[in-house]
Amino acid sequence: MPTIAELGARYRSGETTPTQVVESYLQRIETLDPQVRAYLTLTRESALARAEATEKRLKAGKPLGPLDGVPLAIKDVICTKGVRTTCSSKILENFVPPYDATVMVRLNAAGAVMLGKTNMDEFAMGSSTENSAFFPTRNPWDLARVPGGSSGGSAAAVAAGLAAGALGSDTGGSIRQPAAFCGTVGVKPTYGRVSRYGLVAFASSLDQIGPFAADVRGAALLLQAIAGHDPLDSTSTDIPVPDYPAALGQGIQGLRVGIPSEYVIEGMDPEVGKAVSAAIEALKGLGAKTEKVSLPTTNYALAAYYLIAPAEASSNLARYDGVKYGYRAAGGKDLIQMYGRTRAEGFGPEVKRRIMLGTYALSAGYYEAYYGKAQRVRTLVRRDFQQAFERVDVLACPTAPNVAFKLGEKEDPLQMYLCDVFTIPVNLAGLPGLSLPCGFTQSGLPIGLQLIGKPFDESTLLSAAYAYEQATPWHARAPALP
Ligand code: GLN
Repeated sequence: MPTIAELGARYRSGETTPTQVVESYLQRIETLDPQVRAYLTLTRESALARAEATEKRLKAGKPLGPLDGVPLAIKDVICTKGVRTTCSSKILENFVPPYDATVMVRLNAAGAVMLGKTNMDEFAMGSSTENSAFFPTRNPWDLARVPGGSSGGSAAAVAAGLAAGALGSDTGGSIRQPAAFCGTVGVKPTYGRVSRYGLVAFASSLDQIGPFAADVRGAALLLQAIAGHDPLDSTSTDIPVPDYPAALGQGIQGLRVGIPSEYVIEGMDPEVGKAVSAAIEALKGLGAKTEKVSLPTTNYALAAYYLIAPAEASSNLARYDGVKYGYRAAGGKDLIQMYGRTRAEGFGPEVKRRIMLGTYALSAGYYEAYYGKAQRVRTLVRRDFQQAFERVDVLACPTAPNVAFKLGEKEDPLQMYLCDVFTIPVNLAGLPGLSLPCGFTQSGLPIGLQLIGKPFDESTLLSAAYAYEQATPWHARAPALP
């Protein structure tokens, strides 16, 4: 499948048209998505109409931007005006937002074409997309395996060539981990880099929207379009957005790469360890200098996350009460019973678990011991990174300790939570992180390399990733779908 940059070049040269491309993607979705199940909702008609509009501009001699006519998949946690936005939850099954998220306004202005909304773990809670209330998505590299999560639909869509790029959201790893499992590039921007306006909130102090693409340049182009201050999100930061695609050619001569010694854990897949070590060697070969760094609080980060994220979720999800919008259970004899039934019937088991954990952690008498303590751990995690970044420019480590596992394999929630040990600290510290393919297991499953950067230094992550990508063959491989 063509990359995002290749599509633009083909449109400009007249080799193909946006309509032809969008039609071929819709056709591909029709044939292949019944196996992968990346999409929850398809927006055929508006996609074709948008493609036609781009075509008209092209014919009128207007210059095309890099995302004009580029077909994208959007995680179903991002509000799309007039298009059902479910968060893969029964409670929002028929919710149609009356407005677009800021990222959608920006993508639409850039001429991008949304093909549809993608499946995810309910309210972005999970690491496998099995927590979707509707159906699980499958990994295009092995249909018996999960695509990762929670943005599994978006990652699988890009990997299977069912979209040229995608948006996901990352609260604790939900862009990077599925990117690793599906062999795509995924970027979690710095907290505040991308507007969260119109992103259905899971844990507001951790959530960030970011791109998936088949290559680093595609991810850079998408990030360019969505990044930047938004008056509608007071946590978005008013710092100028650099030219990300322009940063790609810089090379990595002299780049200081830190290797966190704590990012080797018991039970880690040896093939992941090997591939990541080889990737670090490759970075050295390209001119980078590596050194060991220590992030001593790493061991406590997961526990702190599983207090902070559920605490914020319990508060954010209080709004789903059957009153203003979303599902309402029938038959309650009074308001309280209606609330209770609506939430009992509307939320799935993992969401209920998080609400209970969070409510408990915030309750009087426990607040200091749990939530307060977790916040202090968060400060230490952030300090660890600050100290490391006094000596190095980026950190390199595995994205996840394992590769894609079989559907149904991880029944114990704690086993599922462990998928994110290497990604969660990055969210707690608000830093940018990127995952890109760095090899395959013997059985042909993709392995992800994670690069972690200084706040608002996505450019260095992208240029390091690009240098590595151009020197290695991994991004050229595609899954062979029947
Ligand atoms: N898997 C983690 C969780 O379940 C992270 C999810 C995410 O980043 N949205 O909370």
